[in-house]
Amino acid sequence: MKIELVEVGPRDGLQSEGVILPTATKIALIERLIAAGLRRLEVTSFVNPKRVPQMADAEAVLAGLPRHPGVSTIGLVLNRKGFERARAAGCDAVGMAVTASETFNRRNQGVGTEESIAAWREIAPAAREAGIAPNVTISTAFGCPFEGEIDPNRVIDIALRCADSEPVEIALADTIGVAVPTQVEDLFGRLRERLPQMPLRAHFHNTRNTGLANVCAAIAVGVRAIDASVGGIGGCPFAPAATGNVPTEDVLYLLNRMGIETGVSIDRLIDTARWLEQQIGKAVPGMLVKAGNFPRDGLAACGQVQA
Ligand code: ZN
Repeated sequence: MKIELVEVGPRDGLQSEGVILPTATKIALIERLIAAGLRRLEVTSFVNPKRVPQMADAEAVLAGLPRHPGVSTIGLVLNRKGFERARAAGCDAVGMAVTASETFNRRNQGVGTEESIAAWREIAPAAREAGIAPNVTISTAFGCPFEGEIDPNRVIDIALRCADSEPVEIALADTIGVAVPTQVEDLFGRLRERLPQMPLRAHFHNTRNTGLANVCAAIAVGVRAIDASVGGIGGCPFAPAATGNVPTEDVLYLLNRMGIETGVSIDRLIDTARWLEQQIGKAVPGMLVKAGNFPRDGLAACGQVQA
């Protein structure tokens, strides 16, 4: 089995960091992640820089990033304007976020969920026409900091309506880290049943320490792409008390030891997480960065080829 790790550290990870990193440091981070073997990376977001100052250099990051064959740069967008910026900047893919919680959608994107779905319906065909791969993420799919529980029927309904515009993939996101494995199995299982051909991606935050258990549950019901951020950095500027994504190197350790292929080098990722600690001036939440790999020859012990 092969699982695709989608690195979201440069976007989801950095966006709520207090320290604004220089563009060159962000590019160096992305280059390190690519060198570790990651092939899909959410490199920035095209959002209002007044609301997310860390992402104000989105265009400069794309302009300064060398192109690598086989590597897909994803720009997060929340509306048509963001998409136009991502297209002009040369993103290979765009990820649109539609929030299952009406309240969260209004706070995060300034419009209601229906308007975001309408924007996605314009963005998806425009992206395809421009040779850009459009994907869509249903945020707060497992719970909302403002509304509490989210009706799974609403999540599935939104996902099905977004699927009409033929995304390359649909993700369900646990934006504030409240999901548990039974809920992950249930929601992704329902989606799989309704959209058996659609590639699915999972986006988990480890706020309540259920992140890796949720990764396992998602894989068990057919999810084949997992979002993760190096070091487990991040949060969400609009989700109170949200913490980082599942740490890429921790997820990778889990997958390696389960005999699942990713093509990513764990040693390079751990090195990058340690390097990142220097850049942001504090320890990252990930565990592998502290504990190290096991056994020391890591991937070789699983009979896999080091990328
Ligand atoms: Zn997130």
